Amino acid sequence: MGTPLEPREAQVDEVLERLYEEYPDSTISLNYSNRLELLIAVILSAQCTDERVNKVCADLFETYETPEEYANAPQEEMAEAIDSITYYNNKASYIRSACADIAEKHDGEVPDTMSDLTDLAGVGRKTANVVLQHGHDIVEGIVVDTHVQRLTRRLAITEEESPKRIEEDLLDIVPEEDWQQFTHLMIDHGRATCTAINPDCTDCVLADLCPSTKPDADVDLASGEEW
Ligand code: SF4
Repeated sequence: MGTPLEPREAQVDEVLERLYEEYPDSTISLNYSNRLELLIAVILSAQCTDERVNKVCADLFETYETPEEYANAPQEEMAEAIDSITYYNNKASYIRSACADIAEKHDGEVPDTMSDLTDLAGVGRKTANVVLQHGHDIVEGIVVDTHVQRLTRRLAITEEESPKRIEEDLLDIVPEEDWQQFTHLMIDHGRATCTAINPDCTDCVLADLCPSTKPDADVDLASGEEW
């Protein structure tokens, strides 16, 4: 079983250093060519794999281009265009509504503030942070998705449980210049090694820092339950 460094800032620094080395090209894995496409891809990616979203978006982005085109598409047509995505009916309605607001209230431009973004349908703080970071080069938060949530808890970086509280906690201990990459590195490691079920602890570069290491540790700190 690994031992986390103290204080937590030291644990974060060491984890980051190792993951930067392990994943030197870590970045967002959604495909898009403008801010509107980015926003739509991120809305679609909630509880769905980026791989599937990219596949669907390849056709979607050929069919629709402007916010007006998305907003004016009939609900059934939009739902059908994305029907291999989880919660496609809800997401079709979010996209149409968000695009109507973008066309009517924002001159057709994807907003560049947290508050305007989170006013759009289907856009929570996580989605807004991704759009701000990758669409507008504004980094004012840390994106906490399911991988960040799981890994930060397993690695004893946080004891918080909700994405909102985890983000607040991380903002105090992750160096500001690493806020954006922190997420991508956690996601890469979460996909490659520290998977939700059966993480590959024997081949993990963080094992000596991790109090959840299998099979030595009894408990998965991500869930608080026994492995
Ligand atoms: S793979 Fe295992 S050792 Fe590595 S961070 Fe995840 S739980 Fe810890």
